[in-house]
Amino acid sequence: MHELRLHNTLSGKTEPFVPLVPGEVRMYTCGPTVYDYAHIGNFRTFVFQDILRRYLKQRGLKLTHAMNLTDVDDRIIANAAAAKVGIREYTEKYVQAFFADCRALGIQAPEHWIRATDHIPAMVQLIERLERKEFTYASDGSIYYRIAKFPGYGKLSKVDLSGIQAGARVDNDRYEKESARDFALWKAPKPGEHFWNTQIGPGRPGWHIECSAMAMQYLGETLDIHTGGVDLAFPHHENEIAQSEGATGKPFARYWIHAEHLLVEGEKMSKSLGNFYTMRDLYAKGYKPSALRYALASVPYRRQLNFTFDGLEQATNSVARLRNFAGRLKQGKFPTGSPAGFHQQVAEALQAFDGGLADDLNTAVALGAAFDLLREANTSIDSGQFGQEDAAAAQRFLAAFDEIFAVLEDDDAAKLAELGFAAADGGLSEGDVEARIAERQAARQRRDFARSDEIRKELAERGIILEDNKDGSVRWKRK
Ligand SMILES: [Zn+2]
Repeated sequence: MHELRLHNTLSGKTEPFVPLVPGEVRMYTCGPTVYDYAHIGNFRTFVFQDILRRYLKQRGLKLTHAMNLTDVDDRIIANAAAAKVGIREYTEKYVQAFFADCRALGIQAPEHWIRATDHIPAMVQLIERLERKEFTYASDGSIYYRIAKFPGYGKLSKVDLSGIQAGARVDNDRYEKESARDFALWKAPKPGEHFWNTQIGPGRPGWHIECSAMAMQYLGETLDIHTGGVDLAFPHHENEIAQSEGATGKPFARYWIHAEHLLVEGEKMSKSLGNFYTMRDLYAKGYKPSALRYALASVPYRRQLNFTFDGLEQATNSVARLRNFAGRLKQGKFPTGSPAGFHQQVAEALQAFDGGLADDLNTAVALGAAFDLLREANTSIDSGQFGQEDAAAAQRFLAAFDEIFAVLEDDDAAKLAELGFAAADGGLSEGDVEARIAERQAARQRRDFARSDEIRKELAERGIILEDNKDGSVRWKRK
């Protein structure tokens, strides 16, 4: 196993990853604000953190991972008030949609899914702790963080605070602050909108305090890893550091890992450009969850990902090639042993795969290792030099591969059905295909060739190609 190195935004360097407690990792991910469906830019970050999660586990580390749902936010509170429903009722639809999108994309559930609205007391306590250390001041019923009191401010994002003039608007707050840079920890209630009555007064928490309070409640005062999209580094993560470290006097997160932006066809994604996509928009166009996961995972997280429909077609083909290869290994009849020692190449591929991921999660290198192996193995199979021992080794490679990339299982049709979409290829699952093949085999055995041809034709129309082997067995693949 290679040494794991990760790029730490805090140091600006790619460093060996060494957890605080050997063998254990405590990780926090900023989750979505649940006032709308999450879009593919959001899911780029969530797929990246899933790859990181899965790879840490593959390395045998015990992971405790918390991810929040921001269900308190100015937009949520205003929208819920306008709709005359409670916050919980307003956000529930988007929370469930987010969970369903995560399942479809193979994003593993963290050990703790936590909602901001369930943790108001922890936020209030953290604000009180900051109050006692004089990091706060009150103004017009709101409570602000006094950045001048925290000399380390800016160490994560390297933001130059001298450019922020007094009176400039960093936050869209209409309240009086000592400095334009200061941010709200607790916001005074607005007429007609939801608020909590607490010992620090009526109001609602600011966004930044939510993450600090919840991360420390579940993971302790010093976390190993904090992840998020690069756009969160300033001011959100900078403010999390100021709050947590101001209160505890200890380092908050040891490794800050940020995923780069996503572009769509070379442009910034925006509703006004008409290139803004949720997962559902893409499923409605006939794309599969596995292809989307593959497309989002294939570009290393620190590189900008240019999402294109050509790229999505390629991802669809790549997933099909991987599944067809897995099918070939499963269905093939191979000679015993390893006639040409191919399993050695499999061992080398596994090394290259792990080496890619260990190098700051270079998914492009890891995928390259898989496709090199696939090509060489197909050539070896075609030449009859590929034995059972080689097949077993290649299957172990695919199992390790799929612990990370999670695209081999032929379950797109079922996932799309769960989301209420019909699959473009008629939705035949692996089990459906095998049942049809068994039916066709039975027809052939009773010499009913008309029926056998009919089944072959029907499968072909639904994108399934059958190849009859000399020994009477049948191999199938998707077009
Ligand atoms: Zn956060």
